[in-house]
Amino acid sequence: VSGRQSESGRSEVVAAVDVGGTTIKGAIVGSGGRIAHRRAIPTPVTEGPQAVVDAVLAEVRALLDQARQRESSGACSVGVVVPGFVDAPAGVARFAANIGWRDVALRALLADATGIPCAVDHDVRAAGVAEAALGRVTGFDDAILAVIGTGVAAVVWSAGTQVTGGTRLAGELGHIPVWPDGDPCPCGQRGCLERYASAGALVRRYHQATGRTATAEQIVRLAEQDAAARAVWQEALTALAIGLASCTMLVDPAVIVLGGGLSGAGEVLRAGVSTALAERVVWREPPPVELSPLGADAGLLGAAILAADAAGLPGLIRTEGGA
Ligand SMILES: [Zn+2]
Repeated sequence: VSGRQSESGRSEVVAAVDVGGTTIKGAIVGSGGRIAHRRAIPTPVTEGPQAVVDAVLAEVRALLDQARQRESSGACSVGVVVPGFVDAPAGVARFAANIGWRDVALRALLADATGIPCAVDHDVRAAGVAEAALGRVTGFDDAILAVIGTGVAAVVWSAGTQVTGGTRLAGELGHIPVWPDGDPCPCGQRGCLERYASAGALVRRYHQATGRTATAEQIVRLAEQDAAARAVWQEALTALAIGLASCTMLVDPAVIVLGGGLSGAGEVLRAGVSTALAERVVWREPPPVELSPLGADAGLLGAAILAADAAGLPGLIRTEGGA
């Protein structure tokens, strides 16, 4: 039976896994979000959906072995976050296009394999949980976290509550149309923000313009001296500003926090979005734009918090005063 604090004062840890389209990241996380051990394996997408499930289970077993070596008591629970549509209460990954999953009863598989409490949730929602507990959103009742990576998604808080939506589809910042007649998007719409402002879009659009291959990070750096890189980067900032201006009008966030892989670009991203937003939001003060201090670890830390919740230890990872 889970849910008891240790009486011996031993350190409690959880195992956390963030399943991405290219990498499965794992960590052992202790009190306050301290990452005691981390590992990563490539996601075997080309080997099919079952291979990805097997890889996740193997990753969890490896983490639990590691936890037993480090803490005699081992990990008290497991949290796994995945992309796509996730039915968190049921513990089922309903649909994840980039890893080929459809109706994978992941929590049941994890519970069978480990015999300890397990939680399964959506990666961006989990990143929001971490941001509210340990990151830049702490202390704000109204905020937006924009997660800019391979795609773009957001977490919206209103009056202290994470907004999920009537059909649990809130936060699709990446599919806000920013140019009505823009590029077609795989989602079926045209001109979606994600077609211009994701890391993937930067790479694709720079290649279309120049025939050259560069990573998103390289393109951001090249924007200083290379006109094509500058044009692609500026268009990304404009798309983000248009989308975030709409969000500002709708929910009046006290802060906009930028996270995800592209937030590694740092101040050039923060200042670029802040300036582009201020050019569009003119009749009122635009909300401040800040960088997430959690960076690419937000999903992993969110998984750890959800694992701690599943073990009945909600205060293990969350810092005092966190959401
Ligand atoms: Zn779209």
